[in-house]
Amino acid sequence: MARRERFPIVRARRWVQVAFLVVVVAIGAQFTHWALALLAGRQPALGRPGGVEGFLPISALMSLRLWLAGDGVHPIHPAGLAILLGVVAMSLVLAKSFCSHVCPVGLLSEWLGRLGQRLLGSNLAVPRWLDWPLRALKFLLLGFFVWATWVVMDLPGTRAFLDSPYNKVADVKMLLFFAEPSRLTIAVLGVLVVGSIFVRDLWCRYLCPYGALVGLLGRFAPLKVTRDQATCTDCAKCTKVCPARLPVHRLVRVASVECTSCQDCVAACPIKDCLAVRPPRWASSRVVRPIRAVALAALVWVAVAGAFRVSGHWRSEIGQDEFARRLQEIDSPLYTHVGGLAASESPTPPELRSSHAPR
Ligand code: SF4
Ligand code: SF4
Ligand code: SF4
Repeated sequence: MARRERFPIVRARRWVQVAFLVVVVAIGAQFTHWALALLAGRQPALGRPGGVEGFLPISALMSLRLWLAGDGVHPIHPAGLAILLGVVAMSLVLAKSFCSHVCPVGLLSEWLGRLGQRLLGSNLAVPRWLDWPLRALKFLLLGFFVWATWVVMDLPGTRAFLDSPYNKVADVKMLLFFAEPSRLTIAVLGVLVVGSIFVRDLWCRYLCPYGALVGLLGRFAPLKVTRDQATCTDCAKCTKVCPARLPVHRLVRVASVECTSCQDCVAACPIKDCLAVRPPRWASSRVVRPIRAVALAALVWVAVAGAFRVSGHWRSEIGQDEFARRLQEIDSPLYTHVGGLAASESPTPPELRSSHAPR
């Protein structure tokens, strides 16, 4: 049977990943320029990029809660909610595809893993008895964040947090945190980077709560990698290349929460259409061509983010003047978790309150 074309599948996903990485780097550079200028008391030449709110997942999770409760789009970090909903949507279409197509950390993790393969010949295989409990860690972390933001906090508390001075400058706080890292931060990042060279996807596989969320959502995705048992030769080439270490050659439909829909297994399969992304059998027997699956995953995310932009829900309601004033006083206790929340709950001067009054 015909040997399938390998390069277009692998390259298409890589191009999408690199394109998103370039966008993220550009957003980071613009945001850094903007924040440093305001912190120094100057007017920045460029505005604040809304996309930076993609780095505020907790705030986005809380905005999602208010959105589901009927509050509409919270106006402090609306792009954060747009990005989260885009991630949710693409995960519900093509299982966990955010990790293999969009997330820049996923791409860096892949590169570090490849570096390890070149240096050591192969990545270390964590024994099964240790791998399983370690993989559970990311779900525990996700459970903790959901519990802390959706269970412990009531709706008024969520609104108060999102309207707090701390949340309004949370992105700048994060920038300062990484610009002046503590020894502990450097040590943790160092362990993760070096560890990812030895153990492939160390952070993603064991610790990332975002990956746990999209993995769980992916269970509901209609498009999944599916093996045609009739044409399969049991060569196990698919299993050998799977970064999630799944026994693909023994599965019929890959429904694991670890599968990122990367299609590396599809690219490795020597039999045409034996292994492919397919809808559920009851819906259709058609194969979704690898390039189309890649394009679909990226387009779903772009469509959701684009819808927020077009409908005017991308830019924060906080104006440049308010940001300039807040960044000048960012070291005050008002901009800590506790101090900021206390300020939002107590009668504060009108200029420190959000125009988005808690409902
Ligand atoms: S597991 Fe987390 S860090 Fe890794 S690719 Fe997925 S979302 Fe990104
Ligand atoms: S099963 Fe295939 S698509 Fe899923 S992670 Fe493994 S190689 Fe990627
Ligand atoms: S690579 Fe293709 S033919 Fe080989 S075991 Fe996997 S699905 Fe079957």
